[in-house]
Amino acid sequence: MAKENLECSFCGRKKPETNLLIAGLDAHICDRCIEQAHGIVAEESKQAKNHDLSSELIVKKPREIKEFLDAYIIGQERSKKVMSVAVYNHYKRLLQPKSKGDDIEIQKSNIIMVGQTGTGKTLIARTIAKMLNVPLAIVDATVLTEAGYVGEDVESILTRLLQAADYNLEKAERGIVFIDEIDKIARKSDNPSITRDVSGEGVQQGLLKLLEGTVVNVPPKGGRKHPDQKFIEVNTENILFIAGGAFDGIERAITKRLNMQAVGYSASKVEENLDVSNILQYIIPKDLKEFGLIPEIIGRLPVLTHMNPLDETALRAILTEPKNAIIKQYEKLFDMDDITFKITDQALDYIVQKAVEYKLGARGLRSLCEAIFTDAMFDLPSSDEKEFKVTKPYAEEKLAHETIKKLKAVS
Ligand code: ADP
Repeated sequence: MAKENLECSFCGRKKPETNLLIAGLDAHICDRCIEQAHGIVAEESKQAKNHDLSSELIVKKPREIKEFLDAYIIGQERSKKVMSVAVYNHYKRLLQPKSKGDDIEIQKSNIIMVGQTGTGKTLIARTIAKMLNVPLAIVDATVLTEAGYVGEDVESILTRLLQAADYNLEKAERGIVFIDEIDKIARKSDNPSITRDVSGEGVQQGLLKLLEGTVVNVPPKGGRKHPDQKFIEVNTENILFIAGGAFDGIERAITKRLNMQAVGYSASKVEENLDVSNILQYIIPKDLKEFGLIPEIIGRLPVLTHMNPLDETALRAILTEPKNAIIKQYEKLFDMDDITFKITDQALDYIVQKAVEYKLGARGLRSLCEAIFTDAMFDLPSSDEKEFKVTKPYAEEKLAHETIKKLKAVS
């Protein structure tokens, strides 16, 4: 066929009418048809992506959620159960059809977790985000201040979430925000008018609107609100907020309340049934108010749960049992150098003993392991050794008194 007689097999344009005509095996396509086809492909894949986002939200049942959490988090049975139900309800609320004809609107199930540091609060939030495949922002309440003061505005929380979602607004709006150290923004005194409490009650007030669900103008790159800056409108209605805090000393308020309740009832009966080693399990929202959270905040964090202190058995299990347990991680690290890593039960017990003795908690387990294994991790990759076995005497030797003192100082 003469060159000028060639035509696009899709639209029929002759070669001279096109800018470009590309030849295939037995057909041709012109530049315009390529562009059109590209548009169709892009549109289709966008739709498929949106569809993926919704299908990702077919959330597991509470029992399955808890099973997932069990693989990563040792103990904390009650908390895992409460969280599984809260997360399930939260996403059920998300999936409910908009107009159902009835007036029943499912409220948000934002969560507040109370428990000593290092008992797994952040880990639970992380694990839930991983399971749901939603973005997670972890923020520290202590850096937040009331707008206009030095520190970060509460909106910065949403900037973090947007960043965690790679600026995909739709994803961010279904994400999870973990607000750590919520207890640090408790009201300092019962009389809020004595001094301006910029880092306490003011921040709690600022958080209120985010928690209940509203549209917030968020500076995408963070920083202070600036008139020239373009904002992204983030709707927080479907964002799940999980707050955590140690609430040091709240046990006193709980005990006081329990004792008051006991008056007029059979006091001895109440005391008999109390597990004084873990007073936190009796916490109710009123205790949070006593501690200095404003009632409105407490109302917007309707799911209250507590974390148990970790005992020796739990710490021992944390070393080896979770899916990405610390010891499993070291095994993998050594394995990458073709070195078989072994550790005796006595050595593991010794590590746990030291963590308990020096009150290092679960976080300390990792620092103890680092202190014991560092020399080997330094030397073995350039040696011919094919096995590294850690015994109790080896661990004892590496953890000379001085090292432990240092670990205690940093933890
Ligand atoms: P928190 O937020 O309560 O201060 P984290 O969740 O940050 O504590 O816990 C610190 C680390 O300790 C975690 O990364 C994890 O390695 C370990 N850890 C703490 N609690 C548990 C637990 N219940 N199960 C498994 N690991 C835990």
